[in-house]
Amino acid sequence: MNSSYQQLIRNLEYLKLKQMVQNLDETVDFSTKNQLSLVDTLVKLTNYEIDVREKNMINSMVKVGAFPHLKEVKDFDFEFQPSVKKEQILDFTTLRFIENLENIVFLGPSGVGKTHLATAIGIAAAKKRTSTYFIKCNELILQLKRAKIENRLENRLKHYAKYKLLIIDEIGYLPIDKEDAKLFFQLIDLRYEKKSTILTTNVNFKAWDEVFQDSKLANAILDRVLHHATVINIIGDSYRIKDHLEKEN
Ligand code: ADP
Ligand code: MG
Repeated sequence: MNSSYQQLIRNLEYLKLKQMVQNLDETVDFSTKNQLSLVDTLVKLTNYEIDVREKNMINSMVKVGAFPHLKEVKDFDFEFQPSVKKEQILDFTTLRFIENLENIVFLGPSGVGKTHLATAIGIAAAKKRTSTYFIKCNELILQLKRAKIENRLENRLKHYAKYKLLIIDEIGYLPIDKEDAKLFFQLIDLRYEKKSTILTTNVNFKAWDEVFQDSKLANAILDRVLHHATVINIIGDSYRIKDHLEKEN
């Protein structure tokens, strides 16, 4: 092995470019065989390092975001759910809606992909280093309630208000009593016209009165959520049932 090769390995190791070390031989062979230019060879080699770092970065952002899974837009079968327009979802992943401080509401029955799409947009945001956090509505309320009891509500509200994108999943699966609805309202009000929020719900807006058990509060929440929002109404079959049927056949 010639000494400049050894030197290169040492340099790469010194620079902690582990992937480039690991893929050096293969890249050099490929480059020789296909007569790649020096620049193309370097692009190919550096891409190995970037790919792994991006994956690591995404993994840590995803950890911070507390997403329920790693599902992305590419994993969504748009043919199965024609009421969801792919271009629209892809537009969300440009994060224009976050720049414009707009909200997104996914409305529809169980299993149609609300959580999947909300997560996919959240992951797209996290990948672009936009502070993002995913939480189920019940958990959020539990946290706010606990904070109130422990006299640290203001801090907790500020904490949830700081995320550039907050995803509140499953509004309406369980009823929320009036005191809890007030806490939820406070957070929505703090984020109103300042930060973007994605909400998912299986309950039509008209029935939010029942979810929050107080029509005034429900209206105040809806008003703020919907003022600058895109509502994606998903009308279709549950993907969970599709899987189930396929397994049986
Ligand atoms: P919801 O939140 O509306 O109840 P989910 O997003 O949790 O539904 O979807 C249920 C399961 O089905 C998840 O595993 C999700 O990834 C998957 N899924 C739903 N819709 C689709 C789709 N159109 N293409 C691929 N997977 C889907
Ligand atoms: Mg869901």
